[in-house]
Amino acid sequence: MNVSQQLHQLQEIDLEIEANERTLRQITGQIGEDEVIVRAQQKLASERQQLEELQRQQHTAEWEIEDLTDRIRPAEEKLYSGRITNTKELTSLQQEVEGFKAHRGQLEDKVLEIMEQVEQAQAKVATTGEELKKLEAEWQNQQQQLSADMERVKALLADLRQKRQVLTDKIEPQTVTLYQQLRKQKTTAVAKVQQGICSGCRISLSTANLQQVRSGSLAHCTNCGRILYLA
Ligand SMILES: [Zn+2]
Repeated sequence: MNVSQQLHQLQEIDLEIEANERTLRQITGQIGEDEVIVRAQQKLASERQQLEELQRQQHTAEWEIEDLTDRIRPAEEKLYSGRITNTKELTSLQQEVEGFKAHRGQLEDKVLEIMEQVEQAQAKVATTGEELKKLEAEWQNQQQQLSADMERVKALLADLRQKRQVLTDKIEPQTVTLYQQLRKQKTTAVAKVQQGICSGCRISLSTANLQQVRSGSLAHCTNCGRILYLA
């Protein structure tokens, strides 16, 4: 393997290392990321709060109904006892009882309405609770998968870096430095020659340049400066 072939191989390894480093960064960003869970928990908490508020309203209305019933009973007893003979007093008491009953009727309607809302709120809480459970299970699985992926990518990177070391040990240090400078400048430092054209800049090589490449010595494209490599 001549030096340009070695450098090409080095570039292949470096590209693979970079791709795996990107993957590793993505995985690291996703590990522990639980925004979906937190949102579902917040949703459940707010739905539970709404449910409790409705139940509180229901109980308050029920107590008021009880209270009214407690007031209606003695008033009616008094009304029908025959003890009151004064017409004005009777009418007033009757109006009072009617007023209580009307109010109680309204409250009973309100309780029915609230009970319906309570039922809906309970259904919501149950659904969100189920969703949350499902999300948590999915999240656990995903996290396990991510951890496994991370281990795999880390092992792959260690292997690639080892391969890179073995390869660079075989190349002159100043050539490696030159390659690295070109990589920084142009991303691809080593360009394949295809049908007399530099694949880095897509320009046809001069005959002299082409001969240089064919000789197997380190040759640069006279146009873009990349190291030329003949497959
Ligand atoms: Zn070129």
